Amino acid sequence: MDFEIYKIMFDVAIVGGSSTGLIAARELSKHGLRVCVLEEHEIGEVVCSGLISVNGVKELGIKPENVENIIRGVRFVSPSNVEIYAHSNIDRAFVVNRGLFDRQIAEEALSSGAKIFEKFRAKKIAFKNDYVDINGEIRAKIVLGCDGLKSIVARACSLNPPRRVVASAKAVFKNADYLQEDVAEVYFRDYAKGFFAWILPRGKCVEIGVGVRKANLRLALERFLKERGLELKSFQTGAFPVEVVSDTCGYRAMIVGNSAGQVKASTGGGVITGGICAKIASKACLKSLEEDKFDKDFYKKNYEDIWKKSLLREFYAHIIIRELYERLDKHSLDALFKIAREEGIDKIMIKYRDTDKPSKFLDEIMKKEKIISFLSQFI
Ligand SMILES: Cc1cc2nc3c(=O)[nH]c(=O)nc-3n(C[C@H](O)[C@H](O)[C@H](O)COP(=O)(O)OP(=O)(O)OC[C@H]3O[C@@H](n4cnc5c(N)ncnc54)[C@H](O)[C@@H]3O)c2cc1C
Repeated sequence: MDFEIYKIMFDVAIVGGSSTGLIAARELSKHGLRVCVLEEHEIGEVVCSGLISVNGVKELGIKPENVENIIRGVRFVSPSNVEIYAHSNIDRAFVVNRGLFDRQIAEEALSSGAKIFEKFRAKKIAFKNDYVDINGEIRAKIVLGCDGLKSIVARACSLNPPRRVVASAKAVFKNADYLQEDVAEVYFRDYAKGFFAWILPRGKCVEIGVGVRKANLRLALERFLKERGLELKSFQTGAFPVEVVSDTCGYRAMIVGNSAGQVKASTGGGVITGGICAKIASKACLKSLEEDKFDKDFYKKNYEDIWKKSLLREFYAHIIIRELYERLDKHSLDALFKIAREEGIDKIMIKYRDTDKPSKFLDEIMKKEKIISFLSQFI
């Protein structure tokens, strides 16, 4: 990095140029702040299915340009193939090309004046009296840690990024059969314990993936593919957090997105929730610079308390749902599917279809005595 850059005092340096960091950069640069994004890879080099809710992108003010499919329904399949199918004519989610989605947001940030440094790995973060120094190459008044599960920003502030994670793998197949092009399928299998396997239609292809907590990832994907007569050739792997972090602020610093566990634990989706938290963190940055306050308590009040107020209940609802996948064995899952079908769960799913905010769905389930009495033995 050249010395001219070190002379710039950025208002905000964002470590991590995946969706959360780029959404923060877009927000901050729109408000005229001097922002830089430091990304160790290239923008768009990300492992993600790109399933993002229609409501969520609206809330973030993003119009995705690379939509491969629109999802209107979901089919859940139990270990012995009992099905729950919930479909309506309302557009629920986009399947986007995630690499292009990130580049679209990066372009918007660049056009508002943000700087993006690719292949830049933040290795050393030092908190000085008046600024934050990154690698002795970048100076900024505030640092945002949008740097995922191994967050260096979190560690520099003595915060703990999430430890509980789901490992996942996915592969894309041309011309593989799928039932309906606007339906995502979720399969509970004992070899994918703690999470599930999925089939997602993507344009003329299908994506087949699997997530596991404590099982062999490659074997799980191979077994799921074998069930559909497919063979594993190439695949991508990644991981996402399934717990939320409570302490997300430090002196001149906030952690946002995957690094803070701001992910929907029951689905692994983190683009929208991370983006919402990035917008909250961006507002906190603006206020911090206006008032010249950079202490942890300031960010706690203006970032942490706000994201918790709007999303913590929803994160907990996701965590409860995912923990059920982990606690229930295959027989119990089959039994639960049968009871849930009898109780009309498909209609509840259609009515409360906002998967970013499942707490209302859970409230409704709590009214179903048969389901609750069945589940009480596992709690
Ligand atoms: C297989 C899979 C499928 C998924 N599918 C979906 C989906 O369909 N929908 C959805 O909403 N979410 C999905 N997710 C989750 C989603 O990808 C993330 O939640 C989303 O990318 C937001 O994460 P983030 O930006 O906070 O962090 P991450 O995506 O983890 O990005 C962190 C970034 O920081 C960079 N970085 C890390 N350390 C440094 C450093 N020291 N210096 C510089 N750069 C650094 C990394 O290179 C990376 O680009 C999926 C995840 C996986 C693994």
